[in-house]
Amino acid sequence: MSPSRDGTARGHAVKRRVLVIGAGPAGLAAATSLLETARDRLDVTLVHQGHHLGGKASSTRRPDGRFVEHGWHMVVGFYDRLRALLRRAGVNDRDVFVSMRGQSHPYEAWSRRIHTLDAGGDAVAFAARFATYDGLPGADRANYSAFMSQAFLEAFSGADLTRHDDLCFDTFAVEHGLRPYVTKYSVFRFLREAYFNFPERISAYHVLQSMRLMSSPKRAEAFVCVGPWSEVVWQPIARYFLSLGGSLEPFTLATDWVWTGDRITGVRVARPDSAGHGDGARAWRDEVRPAAGTERTLEGFDFVVSTIPHAVFVKMNRAEERMWRSPWFARLENLRSAATVSMTLTTTKPVLADKPGPVFGFPAPLGITVNMKPYWREYRDDPSVGSVLDFVGQEAGFETWSDEQLVSFTLDSFSRAPQVGDLRAAGVRDVELHRNRADAERLLLCEPGVNQFRPGPRTPFSNLFVAGDWVRNEVDLICMEGAVASGQAAAAAVVARLG
Ligand SMILES: Cc1cc2nc3c(=O)[nH]c(=O)nc-3n(C[C@H](O)[C@H](O)[C@H](O)COP(=O)(O)OP(=O)(O)OC[C@H]3O[C@@H](n4cnc5c(N)ncnc54)[C@H](O)[C@@H]3O)c2cc1C
Repeated sequence: MSPSRDGTARGHAVKRRVLVIGAGPAGLAAATSLLETARDRLDVTLVHQGHHLGGKASSTRRPDGRFVEHGWHMVVGFYDRLRALLRRAGVNDRDVFVSMRGQSHPYEAWSRRIHTLDAGGDAVAFAARFATYDGLPGADRANYSAFMSQAFLEAFSGADLTRHDDLCFDTFAVEHGLRPYVTKYSVFRFLREAYFNFPERISAYHVLQSMRLMSSPKRAEAFVCVGPWSEVVWQPIARYFLSLGGSLEPFTLATDWVWTGDRITGVRVARPDSAGHGDGARAWRDEVRPAAGTERTLEGFDFVVSTIPHAVFVKMNRAEERMWRSPWFARLENLRSAATVSMTLTTTKPVLADKPGPVFGFPAPLGITVNMKPYWREYRDDPSVGSVLDFVGQEAGFETWSDEQLVSFTLDSFSRAPQVGDLRAAGVRDVELHRNRADAERLLLCEPGVNQFRPGPRTPFSNLFVAGDWVRNEVDLICMEGAVASGQAAAAAVVARLG
């Protein structure tokens, strides 16, 4: 059978082959989107280095039934793309994402009290509530409120917020009248710490863009997942991808590009040396390396969509000066990322039972926690578990501390707050700590001036597209929704290239 002049055989279009690398939110979104829009014209293979799906947003269950959390994750009301993708995969998002009742709880050291921010009501009430937060001494409240109102006005104004990217949010605030010391209160610090930008500065663009996307209480409402993310969210999406005709290959670690002229002609891959990312505490901690003797080249693809995280991407083809001196690649070296740290602590007695949302403002590195007991199905009705505290933060400054020091310091600092009480006395049943240091685990820092160096989906290679939370996209925040948006944009770029 010979192809006809228009490249078809017996009237059927010859399918073009697409390789998608990475099965985090961006890779899964890109792979499904390619088949949803052009399955008659595309064959899509998704490869990823580990076993568990979801990348940095994965969490799973061990054979002993315990959760292995890579880091606490929340979904925000404006995550329309992620929710819609999940629904198309046959999962009712309302069944798997539970609201934290619009509440979050800043701990202010000056009063040693955990306060509550309530996001209920309409948009104006929400902005007003945020602006009239009662956790500050009376003398600072008016000043803080005036600034927050201005920040909301700017965020909702429709103006191009990227013009604030070269400024840090603290400076933006002080330039807009906030007294400098007010930036030290937890409620304010949270804006950069929740993006793990501590101790670095966060771009004003990034914070204002978050405020814009959370433009109403509904869009700002925070949700948590009822079980391990890999099983509850990412596996159904992968099954959906397979049902559309895609194929999936785990344990495939991409190490280098093979290229000729302006085309990627192959990808060097190997089996990872360990079980790979996401298979337990150690795998999350260690760098994943190619196992000797397993190297091979994947070839025959027309297009490649890479959702490899930035810190891994910049280590590929390192010996090739020509590539790394070219402007597009050289620019990527201006981006930095951070190692995160997370801890799950189970107690026998209830702790923070009256705080449905995240409690934050405690000292780094694990200064944020959420009691997941009411949310995780496995623990919700288990009377032997009083609370499941999920802590998260950035490792910077604490790299030399031992795990024991980190655990002990965190227990001490939270226990000093009367509303938490002595955590040891609450009966510690289990502690699991993860230092997410491997390149694939690092999270992009949204520092001032960073956006000019973030690429879009297109690359100097005509058939290589990039996606991931670190790639610029319509959402533009370093989060799952940004990664999904970016994956879908890369898929659209491939389809556009098909003509
Ligand atoms: C501690 C922590 C807490 C967070 N909390 C939130 C939150 O509350 N809400 C939120 O929305 N976001 C949160 N995030 C961010 C969110 O996890 C990321 O933005 C999102 O996972 C990025 O998706 P991605 O697909 O771009 O990359 P990743 O999730 O990193 O996925 C990349 C994929 O590529 C694979 N891969 C990597 N290198 C290779 C290679 N060389 N070869 C083959 N495959 C490779 C990985 O195994 C993975 O499958 C958090 C992140 C961390 C670290």
